Amino acid sequence: MRIDKRLRNILDAAYAGLSPGRADCAHMLAFDENSLESQIMRAVATDIVRGGNDNSAIILGQIGLEMAPCPGNCGFCSFGKDHTSLASYRVSDEDFVAKLTDFTKDDDLYGLYLMCMHEYDLDFFLDRVKLAKKRIKGSAQLLANVGDSDTDAFSEMKKAGVTGVYHVCRLGEGSVTALDPEQRLKTMRGALDAGLQIFSCLEPIGPEHTIEQLVDNMFIGIELGCTQHAAMRREPVPGSPLAGRGQISNLRLGQIAAVVALATFSMPTMTYIGVHEPTEIGYVSGANVATAETGVNPRDHMAETSANRGMDMAACRKMLFDSGFRYIRRGDESKIPLTLEYISEHS
Ligand code: SF4
Repeated sequence: MRIDKRLRNILDAAYAGLSPGRADCAHMLAFDENSLESQIMRAVATDIVRGGNDNSAIILGQIGLEMAPCPGNCGFCSFGKDHTSLASYRVSDEDFVAKLTDFTKDDDLYGLYLMCMHEYDLDFFLDRVKLAKKRIKGSAQLLANVGDSDTDAFSEMKKAGVTGVYHVCRLGEGSVTALDPEQRLKTMRGALDAGLQIFSCLEPIGPEHTIEQLVDNMFIGIELGCTQHAAMRREPVPGSPLAGRGQISNLRLGQIAAVVALATFSMPTMTYIGVHEPTEIGYVSGANVATAETGVNPRDHMAETSANRGMDMAACRKMLFDSGFRYIRRGDESKIPLTLEYISEHS
């Protein structure tokens, strides 16, 4: 079998525990998604990632706590103030507790994101964290997905029980968003300074992005020492300014997820690799995080994403089973065998 010699060297080095650097990642991303080389890098990423964690995956949940027209005005997001069609909303106590219960009643959720807008009320957010902390019986970790914040805010979150933060300096930050890239990076450093983990992502990827842009964006999380990394393609959210720019295929997304997985698996801080939207292709490309979502979702024009784009816990379990994972892990890293019986009992 003939494959590109440089790729063979990159993959041999990965099996020896060495992750590819920027130039080698660019080399891997330059292959067509249908090439033999692309299929092989996806297979090797899967083999290395699954070999390193007993073929386990995790499920993360997300509750969108509120929606208001957002001054971030991101061209890819359904909440941007100049184009949103969603009505303002804030989750009620009853609804919040019902969603919490739904996510955590079987104690197989690894972590739960609580999501607010770019501008948010810290007291409201901390209040939801405290309520969640009281109500969650199992081992699910609490995670934050909020706008730019300072170290003091993150310290308060940590005190209340949050362990990690999703925060990203997105592709095109400052040009397709109204936000300052430097502030995004400062926020990520502030979360680390407060003792929180950073969950990063190469996002939102569109067909127009160059390999150099993808590599630069991917290495932001790597150089900060992220705990999770991921790849996300841009969804053509109806009504959003960037909807007309098209979309990469899930096969190309899988190839990019494989490069992210290979570039990060050797980092001492790294634990799991995500892919958005979740697909079986992503899970045979090195990814091992599935995300269940409810409430508002920036990639969805519907107010209740679980009725449209968002997957529920049962759908996540099934997709991970179909992708060949043998265990799912709880928030304390303990393992649950992922069998057909388990799926049937928890559907
Ligand atoms: S992606 Fe975040 S910052 Fe941008 S418009 Fe949506 S909620 Fe606001």
